[in-house]
Amino acid sequence: MTRPPLRAVRRAVQIGVALVMAAVPLANAAGVNWISGNFLALDILGLPLGDPLAAAQVAASARGIAWPAALGAGLAMGLALVLGPVFCAYACPYGLFSEWAHGLARRLGRVRPGRFPQNGLAGRAVLAGAGLAVVGLWGLPPLVNLVSMPAAYSRLWQYALAGALWLPLLAVPAVLCVEVLAGARLWCRFVCPQSVALALAHRLAPWGLGLAYAGKRCTCPPGARRCLAACSLGLDPRRKAPPAACTNCGDCLDACRQAGRALRFRLGRPATGLSATDSTSPAGRL
Ligand code: SF4
Ligand code: SF4
Repeated sequence: MTRPPLRAVRRAVQIGVALVMAAVPLANAAGVNWISGNFLALDILGLPLGDPLAAAQVAASARGIAWPAALGAGLAMGLALVLGPVFCAYACPYGLFSEWAHGLARRLGRVRPGRFPQNGLAGRAVLAGAGLAVVGLWGLPPLVNLVSMPAAYSRLWQYALAGALWLPLLAVPAVLCVEVLAGARLWCRFVCPQSVALALAHRLAPWGLGLAYAGKRCTCPPGARRCLAACSLGLDPRRKAPPAACTNCGDCLDACRQAGRALRFRLGRPATGLSATDSTSPAGRL
């Protein structure tokens, strides 16, 4: 029996998570309370799951640790240390919509490799760090959560059930429109503060899951690399160090299965792959 492509599994999980997040407020309104919260802080049967940046803001604001939030954030960070930022690839509803928007941009011919700079982690880290500092210095509520697209998706359902219109919700369709026009997943690459801690864990953990590239097996001619075309984030997976924005989604791996099978997932730092200066594609310069 042939294995289903990773992408099909991933898509099923993404859609399932988006549906569950929409169902939580409805279930709570109907008196079902074993699951509650939203994307920044979810409670399932007493098990807290949380966004590390949201938990850090709560701690900075209160100048003390809120243990349920810290435990939830710790679970998310533990997962990221081993599997990388798979939250972005498998769970984030904005990531799902952004991928769909990118598919539309491709069909409209708006995707142009090399149009945007490749390294977006620094900008995201500055935004997350500055937000955290402001919240901590003045003891403010967790302001950075207001620029969370997955949280906005969760709140959409919470506010819809309450019959209220919360204007920041319009940000989700607005940003998606910008991404279609730009032909790039700008939010996830350059803005999203939620993904910073997960991306850093992926970057720094020497034992974590990452891509490995065996150049000898690569059969695609330059200019027609299937893996580059498959990555909706515009990354080059043929690198020794994992691209900082890589979410371990596996789309490039699925594409490479149709060619030389030069890419695979492995735990720990790969010993092979292109160095930062080897890549001939603009998408490879990260
Ligand atoms: S980068 Fe942010 S918005 Fe994009 S998939 Fe990850 S958490 Fe979601
Ligand atoms: S490089 Fe591959 S695994 Fe990483 S985000 Fe791009 S397609 Fe997904």
